[in-house]
Amino acid sequence: MSRVAIVGGGWAGIAAAVKLADAGHNITVFEMAPQLGGRARSVAGQDPAWPHDNGQHILIGAYRDSLALMQRLGAEPCEALARLPLALPYPGEPGLRLPPGSPLVSFTRGVLAHHGWPLSARLGLLNAAAGWLARGFRCDAALSVADLCAGLAAAVKRDLVEPLCIAALNTPAPKASAQVFLRVLKDALFSGAGGADLLLPRRPLSDLLAGPAATWLGPRLRLGYRVQEIAPGWRVDGESFDGVVLACTSTEAARLTADLAPDWSATASALGFEPIITVYLNSPGSRLPAPMLALRDGPDAPAQFVFDQGQLGGAPGRFAFVVSGAAPWVARGGCAEAVQAQARRELHWATPPVIDRMLTEKRATFACTPGLVRPPHRIAPGLFAAGDYVLGPYPATLEGAVRAGLAAAQGIGTGANGAASGSPTKTP
Ligand SMILES: Cc1cc2nc3c(=O)[nH]c(=O)nc-3n(C[C@H](O)[C@H](O)[C@H](O)COP(=O)(O)OP(=O)(O)OC[C@H]3O[C@@H](n4cnc5c(N)ncnc54)[C@H](O)[C@@H]3O)c2cc1C
Repeated sequence: MSRVAIVGGGWAGIAAAVKLADAGHNITVFEMAPQLGGRARSVAGQDPAWPHDNGQHILIGAYRDSLALMQRLGAEPCEALARLPLALPYPGEPGLRLPPGSPLVSFTRGVLAHHGWPLSARLGLLNAAAGWLARGFRCDAALSVADLCAGLAAAVKRDLVEPLCIAALNTPAPKASAQVFLRVLKDALFSGAGGADLLLPRRPLSDLLAGPAATWLGPRLRLGYRVQEIAPGWRVDGESFDGVVLACTSTEAARLTADLAPDWSATASALGFEPIITVYLNSPGSRLPAPMLALRDGPDAPAQFVFDQGQLGGAPGRFAFVVSGAAPWVARGGCAEAVQAQARRELHWATPPVIDRMLTEKRATFACTPGLVRPPHRIAPGLFAAGDYVLGPYPATLEGAVRAGLAAAQGIGTGANGAASGSPTKTP
């Protein structure tokens, strides 16, 4: 058994901690916040019975490792998450719906049955998807999503490509990486039955993983502890460990490695960010036609999605409006009022919606742009990075974070010059 420090207790850090502890390592998790969860957490409000989430999160059926981790910690995914077949309904329009079944058949049937699009638009999408499939869902790394989809009909881009791109990559299609977008499509639409299903939290976000993880970690968790320094050997603020997983944010990882691994640190600190704003409106007695609706954003319409939290087992009459790629609204201000006006214009309400709360995450995700250089998970022998930003096929998502945590634990525990695999401690 060796001693391993995990710096950061978001989904990546929790994944690394569980894998290392299960492999017999003696772990310590340092988390600077008063709770675990990182960018996927609940935030206390006026009513303790109904906390807000720092942002509405969606998982999909293809999030294999996240679901397995929840299960491992006793948060039953089938109870904690509502599973819905992929559908993108808009107010008053059924939108694209994928029927159950094998992925290819389901996608083809769903597209052909979408009578809101002209037949030529549907056939154009199927033809493009066949081309992506034939090329193994790979493309030139320099392409944007807008470039990749330039030949598709305007309605397909507006109703499918742009909302999927902003939801999955939190980056607008003209600036978003086509390669990463194709990988998400591949896993969602073609990885197996149910891969594209939407999994919507039925409980506060912290109950999905952070709460169960805190219980499971017990005294191995040090909350409210911001790690200041990592020194070769490895020493975490002077305390000796055989290996370290840096599962903090990219900016903190860059700070902690500035002297240890300057090139790695420079790559991590060069990442850009995209904000997400979540506006909660209250309207007692109101109910949307579905738990989730897509919305068309525009100059005076910030939100791309709305979630009826009451239908999902959350606060009755509370609605979460999601504004992804929100940089223009962060700069402009007035987002909550603009969302309220958008809601009143586009949806039917039993009582006028009022602003409950607005939560802005300025560094919600890294900007997932074409040709982006991401730092690898190995920093030095015995020092590994875990986080949604680490080199990998996924955009900044829970699943990307969990997979990065598992990869870092693998690197520490076995091979890849992991210093904690029973070999003597090495210095970089
Ligand atoms: C509003 C919003 C909506 C989102 N929606 C979705 C969605 O629908 N679906 C999806 O899959 N993903 C979504 N994401 C992305 C997802 O939340 C992240 O990809 C994921 O949570 C990142 O996890 P992580 O462990 O890599 O990083 P983080 O969650 O950022 O964890 C890093 C942790 O390290 C801690 N830390 C930092 N520095 C130190 C230090 N020096 N010492 C100790 N601790 C430190 C931090 O406090 C933090 O807890 C969303 C994100 C936001 C913000």
